[in-house]
Amino acid sequence: MLKKRFAQHLLMGSGILQKLVDLAEIKPEETVVEIGPGTGNLTKKLLNTPLKRLFLIEIDPEMVEHLKNTIKDERMVFINADATNFDFSSLGERNLKVIGNLPYNVASLIIENTVKYKEYISYGFYMVQKEVAERIINGKSWLSIFVKTFYEVKYLMSIPARFFVPPPKVVSAFIRLERKDIKYTKDIKYTFELKDYKNFLTKLFSQKRKMLKHKISQNCLETVGISGEKRVEELELKDFISLYFAFQKSEKDLKFY
Ligand code: SAH
Repeated sequence: MLKKRFAQHLLMGSGILQKLVDLAEIKPEETVVEIGPGTGNLTKKLLNTPLKRLFLIEIDPEMVEHLKNTIKDERMVFINADATNFDFSSLGERNLKVIGNLPYNVASLIIENTVKYKEYISYGFYMVQKEVAERIINGKSWLSIFVKTFYEVKYLMSIPARFFVPPPKVVSAFIRLERKDIKYTKDIKYTFELKDYKNFLTKLFSQKRKMLKHKISQNCLETVGISGEKRVEELELKDFISLYFAFQKSEKDLKFY
């Protein structure tokens, strides 16, 4: 019995499932984490690759029971947990490849949590709503900038609703997050405080029509050479990063009205 509250839309079709696994280019020594394995359609395909270990994070205990009874493979580790706040550091690996046909109601939260555990997750291969994929790629939301600061995001393919049971109301997209090797400055080692960075970005993105000079101090804008007449949607990724570092340095003199 599929549960609406867990956004259970199973992906069917051997060809498409195989395509997704191929795109993930799984190598023999890799540890893979699948989010929301459900009845195990994607799981079975993943187990056909030579991966080292497969962690399965599933919130629905009935699905976990069902999976345990239908698929037997010593490389599987079942975890009955919520992927929106799962602690990926607990898996003891620094180069996890995470893959999943995500529950769409919490896909953004799962992506945000990926960034939180970026030290442990080198790749994310996620099926999301096409609209969510586009918003992340086009750089016009706080989450988009948050993700793209640490990951290269690539749109891999669109998947029509008819490949799912029951079909969702929207078109889906498969995207890849590839962790960046971050070296932003030559001489000064800056660190991102993720909570601060999120706060900084969400405030910049609130009331998008307001000019930057009403949101951030003139001092910060001058340091990085960005005109206060600009609006948040005119900034590029590198502008957000330099503004954030300037803001950090200027003892958080950010002015939000
Ligand atoms: N991967 C399967 C099912 C995808 S549907 C397939 O392609 O056929 C989404 C799955 O995510 C469901 O199994 C649902 O129970 C699970 N799920 C929903 N919310 C979750 C959460 N917060 N954390 C982990 N799993 C979740």
